[in-house]
Amino acid sequence: MDPSHCTVVILQPPTPQPFMIDDDNDQKQAPPQPCYLSTLQSVFAQVSVTSHQTEALAWIKEHPSTLLLLDLDDQEDDSLDCFASISWVSSIVQHAEDDNVPIIVCSSNGNPSFMLDCIHAGAADYILKPMRLDVVKTLFLALHRRRSHSKMHDDQGSSPALSSDNAISPVATTTDTPITPTHNHHHHQQYNDDSNLHLRVKDLLEKDSRLTKVLLDTYTSMSPITGDTYLSSDDAKQLQEKVDSWCFSPFELNHQDLIHCVVLMFSPVLSCPSLDHLVITQEQLYDFIGELSTIYHDGNPYHNFAHAVDVLQCSYYTLRQLGVLPFDQQQHRDPSLPTKPQDLLRPIDVLALFIAAIGHDAAHPGVNNLFLINSATPLALLYNDRSVLESFHSMTLFQIMKKHGLDQISGGAGTLNYQEFRKTVVTSILATDMSLHNDYVTKIKEQAIRLQNRSATTKVDEEQERLLLCSAIIKCADISNVARPFLHSTKWAELLVEEFACQGDLEKELGMPVSPFNDREKLVLEDSQIGFIRFVAMGLFQQVREVMQEMSFAVDQLESNLERWENRKHTTHDSGVSTLVDNDEQENQQDSTSTVTATKAKTMFDRESDTSTSPAPAPSPYNIQPTTVEFIHSRLSMEGPPNEMTSMPTMAMKHYTSPTKIDDQDDDLSTLSHFPASGGNQPPGWHDGPVYCQCTIQ
Ligand SMILES: [Zn+2]
Repeated sequence: MDPSHCTVVILQPPTPQPFMIDDDNDQKQAPPQPCYLSTLQSVFAQVSVTSHQTEALAWIKEHPSTLLLLDLDDQEDDSLDCFASISWVSSIVQHAEDDNVPIIVCSSNGNPSFMLDCIHAGAADYILKPMRLDVVKTLFLALHRRRSHSKMHDDQGSSPALSSDNAISPVATTTDTPITPTHNHHHHQQYNDDSNLHLRVKDLLEKDSRLTKVLLDTYTSMSPITGDTYLSSDDAKQLQEKVDSWCFSPFELNHQDLIHCVVLMFSPVLSCPSLDHLVITQEQLYDFIGELSTIYHDGNPYHNFAHAVDVLQCSYYTLRQLGVLPFDQQQHRDPSLPTKPQDLLRPIDVLALFIAAIGHDAAHPGVNNLFLINSATPLALLYNDRSVLESFHSMTLFQIMKKHGLDQISGGAGTLNYQEFRKTVVTSILATDMSLHNDYVTKIKEQAIRLQNRSATTKVDEEQERLLLCSAIIKCADISNVARPFLHSTKWAELLVEEFACQGDLEKELGMPVSPFNDREKLVLEDSQIGFIRFVAMGLFQQVREVMQEMSFAVDQLESNLERWENRKHTTHDSGVSTLVDNDEQENQQDSTSTVTATKAKTMFDRESDTSTSPAPAPSPYNIQPTTVEFIHSRLSMEGPPNEMTSMPTMAMKHYTSPTKIDDQDDDLSTLSHFPASGGNQPPGWHDGPVYCQCTIQ
């Protein structure tokens, strides 16, 4: 390609004039000649000037080797304002979409953001005036680039409509008169023109990545990654013991140790022989986890990296209880034994589940879906008010994975294996939307019946069962706080209540309606836990136990915790002092240092030593600071005993309707459904009462 074989059409913005039908070319005024015309003429075969868009486009269709130069300000009257200019560029780009012509903008406007806007509007290049010869000589390259794209498609046989170099018919003359309109109308070629689709999609992808970047920049607060990957074998042993225990508590670990724990839990999965092909180095894993950890907001009392690690640890612990981990254990199992539901889980599913667990709340803003929806945030609009945060967490996680080359997992993006892996991760994260809780409990209940009734002859949809198992495990893990040893359970409850109350404070500040479970004045810690366990957690854990009986350890702990919360509720209100621990707890916590790390845990209870407590049923209080006592009094509604918690509070019901509601009005709200009583605890009727808080988000 040579510029002497190319033509240039200079299109100037239409001159504002009274509306008139103008079919007669003779009546057209010749457009003003730009001062740089001769420079262009010295390089190109032919240069034409027009202010008629239809003429320019008609010419381009007849002469493929043409550059379209949009002159934004070389006209007699005032130049277009910026907005109008960009709209005009955008309009021309759209109209010339089928013609594969590079559109170059020239203007004397040197504002960088204006130049970028022109490029974003679809211009191939931007020339800042005055037009210089050396720059003019390079303009044909834009044409070459554009033609190379279409050639590539020609070679693939997908774009027969596009012309090749042979179609060039250089015009030897130079003209500055209006181009004669042709009558060769273009008949909607765009539907068959893959080349243009290619360009359009390519452009879209570029814009898409900018959109993603803006989203991430808005919601994440990346602090520099610190810490190293060195872990002594002694430290590794200690941390391994912690992650292998149901007493795991991230509160006693610093940020770097939490990262080490994550790597330790991923190790048996990544070292599984059947995942050899993944080739994820430990360094890569450390980098990925390190960056992911900074994406979580440390400022959130609850939804921070510690919660993510806790959910991962619960998933890890559960899989060990289920006999899925370590993998070599499975290989040595007696093949004559009947298969279990968890046998459906393959190493790649476990990896997907773990990735989902550690990333399931990535970049959580510290407010819940309802807040984002009620305040009509762009994020809620983007995700149509449905699983807004969960969709966002999943998107964020995959962006970080991509950055660290983890999108090559299982064959890389585009392969079936990768799509299956991604499906498991996304499905698992979306399952953590608590507004869908009852649907999942029902699904798990049905799964239990289905799997119990299966015989050697019946076929199960393995993929669906597998996805549901992963959803069940991550859901249990996400609300596992209430099934942890009581001391940890209490700490988590305090942090969650604090986060909800912070949202309530913000809602008050913004003049928004405050949900009862976000209102400091109405929250009662014990009732929140009792209500949540009875009406939300118990049903889930019991149904999961129906599928996998090994989960009974969690149900037992849940029942025990429920009893303790009920005891504590009465003890608290009888004595005026909250107590936290009893005999079993001391055993559980024997090795715990009770150091609550400043990075994450803001618990109001600090335990001095195990020996200072006396056994149940007359537990000794903690050593509580005066300010803490004041806080506890204010938080635990000391002014009077709360109502007996027998049903879902009416106030909460007003906000969260049942998914099985009869009427179809207000259909959108059905996706926000939060927890009518489940698991056989359907109350006889709703009444006003204390509000339990964990219903909203985890
Ligand atoms: Zn969570």
